[in-house]
Amino acid sequence: MAEPILSIRDLSVDYVSADGPVRALDHVSLDLMPGEVVGVAGESGCGKSTMAQAILRILPPPAVISGGQVLFEGRDLLAMDEGALRRMRWERIAMVFQSAMDALNPVLTVGEQIADTLRAHGAAPSGRAARARAAELLGTVGIHADRLESFPHQLSGGMRQRVGIAIALALDPALVILDEPTTALDVIVEREILEEIQELQRKRGFAVMFITHDLTRMLQFANRVAIFYAARLVEVAPAGELRMAARHPYTQGLLRAFPSVHGGDVDLSSIPGSPPSLRSPPRGCRFHPRCAVAVDLCREREPELVALGPAHAAACHLVTG
Ligand code: SF4
Repeated sequence: MAEPILSIRDLSVDYVSADGPVRALDHVSLDLMPGEVVGVAGESGCGKSTMAQAILRILPPPAVISGGQVLFEGRDLLAMDEGALRRMRWERIAMVFQSAMDALNPVLTVGEQIADTLRAHGAAPSGRAARARAAELLGTVGIHADRLESFPHQLSGGMRQRVGIAIALALDPALVILDEPTTALDVIVEREILEEIQELQRKRGFAVMFITHDLTRMLQFANRVAIFYAARLVEVAPAGELRMAARHPYTQGLLRAFPSVHGGDVDLSSIPGSPPSLRSPPRGCRFHPRCAVAVDLCREREPELVALGPAHAAACHLVTG
């Protein structure tokens, strides 16, 4: 059986504050297989972007990784020296951020930024070769080469995000982390970009971690989906199984809150209340104040993630294998 390309084990992240640490990611374990598309969903602040930044060790202070391992192709990224990690970023693992405007350098042209990435990793022997490859990469994301001389502010939001994807794919990574890559775009551009990424993923075979709060998009795109709530992983399952037979009440609530592209007209309903403050999360199951089926045990004891099938697990006292 194939080994996971990425194995996140018991990973925790704290935000250090004068009032003590705030746990933003709490003992999360998750594997990705080579070529697999794993979606990570949950409401804002649930830990999904924190996990992505922890994988690449690009967490902004005062966040610190307080425990766990991140094994990529068998090597622990958290124990790697900075030089080796720098080579790993972009060459083996690339990331597309929420806002391309923040990720791109505003004073360099698009062509210079792609060429810089190629040269920094020894992937272009000359300036001419870097330029030719930059033009080719822009072409793969549907942008004409005459845009090589454009600065980021001269492009639309969708084009900037496509440039971010071109840079991410420049060195043929084995894993691409997409952190809400289309959140700032209108729905038509969002769909076009996701379809382009899907096509590139199928052609090149890289694994994808796709982070979004939009469960509808995720279920169309991902092979497997991980649901986060209040810094914890609460359910993981193949996308089809999750859509048809989610077991965790929070996942079921999320599914009722998003339109399905498969079903007919269904009334949408939001989950009452809002996620807890991570500064003082509720005792027991963190979802219990919002859960319609909570029992006394839920207020007392935290549920463990239990296996419900070969690739399905959920953390809920009312769910058993
Ligand atoms: Fe609801 Fe209890 Fe399950 Fe938590 S453990 S999701 S509160 S039933």
